[in-house]
Amino acid sequence: MINEAIKEKLRTAVGPENVLDKDLDRFGYSYDSSFIPLLPANSPELVVRPLTTAEVSAVMAIAHEHGIPVTARGAASGRTGGSIPVKGGISLSLDRMTKIIELDERNMMVTAEAGVRTIDLYNHCAAKGLFYPPDPASWKMSTIGGNVAENAGGMRAVKYGVTSNYVMGLEVVLADGRVITTGGKAIKNVTGYNLTSLFTGSEGTLGIITKVLLRLIPMPKARNTLQLMFPSLDDACATIHGMLQAGVVPASAELMDKMSIQAVARHRKMDIDPAIEACVIIEVDGEDEAALAKQAGQIKQIARGFAVAEVRIAASPKEADDIWAIRRGLSSAVGAMAPTRLGEDISVPRDAFPEVVRRIKKISEKYNLPIAVYGHAGDGNLHPSVLCDLQNPEEAERVHKAVDEIFAAALAVGGTLSGEHGIGMTKRRYIADALGEDGVVALKAVKQAFDPKGILNPDKIW
Ligand SMILES: Cc1cc2nc3c(=O)[nH]c(=O)nc-3n(C[C@H](O)[C@H](O)[C@H](O)COP(=O)(O)OP(=O)(O)OC[C@H]3O[C@@H](n4cnc5c(N)ncnc54)[C@H](O)[C@@H]3O)c2cc1C
Repeated sequence: MINEAIKEKLRTAVGPENVLDKDLDRFGYSYDSSFIPLLPANSPELVVRPLTTAEVSAVMAIAHEHGIPVTARGAASGRTGGSIPVKGGISLSLDRMTKIIELDERNMMVTAEAGVRTIDLYNHCAAKGLFYPPDPASWKMSTIGGNVAENAGGMRAVKYGVTSNYVMGLEVVLADGRVITTGGKAIKNVTGYNLTSLFTGSEGTLGIITKVLLRLIPMPKARNTLQLMFPSLDDACATIHGMLQAGVVPASAELMDKMSIQAVARHRKMDIDPAIEACVIIEVDGEDEAALAKQAGQIKQIARGFAVAEVRIAASPKEADDIWAIRRGLSSAVGAMAPTRLGEDISVPRDAFPEVVRRIKKISEKYNLPIAVYGHAGDGNLHPSVLCDLQNPEEAERVHKAVDEIFAAALAVGGTLSGEHGIGMTKRRYIADALGEDGVVALKAVKQAFDPKGILNPDKIW
């Protein structure tokens, strides 16, 4: 599809060294961090690595003219196959667009190119006492453009919200190469449709995000961590609700079920009382140590009302780090328990958390598949991890049925298919269950308006 003449135009646009067409290079852009197996058929025909918005615009104009599919790629840390170029064409890698363009301290806003790593952006702002709260666990690798494209969340979402709560404006290259800017530094802005919101979470299907304008807040001066162990999952959830209802809003409230705790214990060679059914890790932040001590005291008191077995309040930053290491190590600890860890990302109303965990446990028994459940209990976002071997066809069939039922369980309690990882390829077939047929028609109408030739990240979302 991409002949030598088109390749030459692309080389002229971005420099010959930034157009890759060797098999091995292309293969390196054929996968992301989802469970979708490595397939040479998912390789792009070409990898193109622009440096500037003008170069992205030139690439899109060429792709549009020739009807070539273009799949944007940040760090490929996505969990749903979003950056896999299933229709071939161009893998458009934003990895060279890594400038932090402006830190506007007076307006408390930062402008960055799409390929800036999330943690670099965080550190850049933190050095000036400014706080960019969204903290996906992948922030050491993910890009800010990928975060906007997926509307990424993180552990601090319970108090501070997700990426979309900070996006003030975007620079976007449209399917035909035209460049628009949306939003801006004005805090109140209702001029026209809110295109900033529309592009946020659009998974590379409506345009290529080249620059991001984000709002910041003052950095909290003090932080501390608590670890609470419960003999009952319901009591762990009830403690989190009790805290929020009492006005104690922690920065993070992470929950792990028994299987997750045991996985970490095995991995880190720790002894955990087998009677413990749930562990909650909480971060509180505030003005000073006194504010933290007050919040920790309130949490402890609420937890006691729900039969907490153990409350550990970190006595030093090192101890806080040790506690968070348990949560950070969870994904690999659970992953080590089986050849495949099929991690999902459902989101439910906060009060439905225990009910949906119970339903997942029933699904686990029904299909004889271990399912570890952990997640951001403070905002109702769970990551059920089905531990399995997808190479075994009989088991794979059970896994797919179990996953169907997990999504159905989320929808049945008023929840949704994804809290933060997006739909990508892996959840496409459930989208009408969540939005209804007419909802999908409305999505398609938006897509048609922005990308009439259907070249931007085809075969994603529906
Ligand atoms: C260990 C691990 C932990 C994770 N933890 C979290 C978490 O806590 N919270 C969370 O929300 N996610 C998490 N994720 C998922 C993932 O990191 C996020 O979805 C992240 O936002 C993806 O960023 P990326 O730069 O890697 O994007 P990619 O994976 O490269 O792309 C993701 C999607 O965005 C599109 N895209 C990328 N850049 C652009 C752009 N500039 N313009 C338009 N479209 C673009 C792609 O086409 C694709 O559809 C985790 C992943 C891993 C592997």
